[in-house]
Amino acid sequence: MALMTGEQYVESIRKIKMEVYMFGKKVENPVDDPILRPSLNSVKMTYDLAQMPEYQDLMTAVSPYTGKRVNRFTHIHQSTEDLMNKVKMQRLCGQKTAACFQRCVGMDAFNAEFSTTYEIDKKYGTKYHENFKNFMTYCQENDLTVDGAMTDTKGDRSLAPHAQADPDLFLHVVERRPDGVVVRGAKAHQTGILNSHEVIVMPTISMGPDDKDYAISFAVPLDTKGLFMIVGRQSCDTRKREGSEMDVGNSTFGGVEALTVFDNVFVPNDRIFLNGETEFAGMLVERFAGYHRQSYGGCKVGVGDVLIGAAAVAADYNGAAKASHVKDKLIEMTHLNETLFCCGIACSAMGTPTESGNYIIDLLLANVCKQNVTRFPYEIVRLAEDIAGGLMVTAPSEADFRDPKLGPVIDKYLRGVASVSTENRLRILRLIENLSLGTAAVGYRTESMHGAGSPQAQRIMIARQGNLAHKKELAKAIAHIKE
Ligand SMILES: Cc1cc2nc3c(=O)[nH]c(=O)nc-3n(C[C@H](O)[C@H](O)[C@H](O)COP(=O)(O)OP(=O)(O)OC[C@H]3O[C@@H](n4cnc5c(N)ncnc54)[C@H](O)[C@@H]3O)c2cc1C
Repeated sequence: MALMTGEQYVESIRKIKMEVYMFGKKVENPVDDPILRPSLNSVKMTYDLAQMPEYQDLMTAVSPYTGKRVNRFTHIHQSTEDLMNKVKMQRLCGQKTAACFQRCVGMDAFNAEFSTTYEIDKKYGTKYHENFKNFMTYCQENDLTVDGAMTDTKGDRSLAPHAQADPDLFLHVVERRPDGVVVRGAKAHQTGILNSHEVIVMPTISMGPDDKDYAISFAVPLDTKGLFMIVGRQSCDTRKREGSEMDVGNSTFGGVEALTVFDNVFVPNDRIFLNGETEFAGMLVERFAGYHRQSYGGCKVGVGDVLIGAAAVAADYNGAAKASHVKDKLIEMTHLNETLFCCGIACSAMGTPTESGNYIIDLLLANVCKQNVTRFPYEIVRLAEDIAGGLMVTAPSEADFRDPKLGPVIDKYLRGVASVSTENRLRILRLIENLSLGTAAVGYRTESMHGAGSPQAQRIMIARQGNLAHKKELAKAIAHIKE
């Protein structure tokens, strides 16, 4: 089964007995929970689109490791074209869900692990690359969704992992056994973990010799003993329980994060990809972050397309579409959104092969891409709110709209242009609210800021990769300076 249908995917997740908690209670059936289901639907879309002939080139690729057509989310990039197709695929998925579709974290972890394990083995004669390739082909053959767990809870940010007051604030090895290791710790903000079959765990930061037990990377299935998730709250999340499709704004799709706890989890030797080689922790982090910063030049652009469209529809319904400043604001939103896409494509086009043979993005351009993503979606949201008008946050509920007494009043007074129903006007405003302030704002705004690393993390990489010395030489040559 190299490609699952969306339905097969949902049923495969249903079979996994995960330990999930939300609002202080154990969730017995996460798949059908109204708060969690929209997030599963977003991942399902990555399976549905892969079944459609018109999207086959973007959504799938032939794996050189299995010889079969696999979902691109499990693919190891073989060329710059693969890297560009990845970004285009992510834009498509963003357009179809208007939410975080979650599956890129695993794809980015795959590609970072592939090259890093190769280089560790070359230096130490370890078997991590073989372990990883076995795991990766298993995921390709079964079309699995894999979560990428990097971010530790980190405690005091000024202290190294081994120096924390509580040693568990970074995930670490607590026991070494002949058949594997036992780990303890927690990963914060795990996107899509509830919708994944497997999780790849990686270190969060570069490490020194004292952090040996913290330099650990591995993969385990989601029903592993000792692994459990506490779902993160989102603004307006309980609207999904109220049964009002209109009030939610985007009732079909969403994204959910969870605090993921590893309470003495056993990891067998053949699932370990890094174990104590501290100097490679930084390489793994840098490569994963680079791929993930490229990703944002696709996924956020797709969601941006929906938001720009929603703002334009709101302008139509308000009767303001012909105003020159509204047209100009829509141009500005498009300009910002396409600039992000340019960055995603550029860092892909400038990609190069690694020693292991897979392709990596241009790291400088990928970091520039993500740095822009920490800013432009905020400006796009600002302009969308401007065009939408205040009703996007003051409109009465659907229950009032359906009420025999209040409904006609709302219908009369909240109409925009006469030819458009009040209901349609309210629907588009709720979508803008969802993307800018509601559940999807987690994925479109704050994830743009912190996902794949906070802005300063990119600036550090830009400083490292920017080659200022070369630029100084250029200036001195032009100015005929001889030192
Ligand atoms: C919606 C969302 C989804 C995410 N999904 C995932 C996921 O699927 N997998 C995953 O692994 N991670 C995920 N992340 C985590 C993301 O990578 C982190 O949020 C990010 O790296 C910032 O870490 P933090 O949240 O702990 O913030 P902090 O590290 O606390 O950062 C807060 C501020 O403090 C600054 N700061 C932190 N440490 C230092 C320091 N030592 N010196 C100076 N300044 C410092 C930062 O620059 C920032 O300005 C997600 C995050 C979000 C918001």
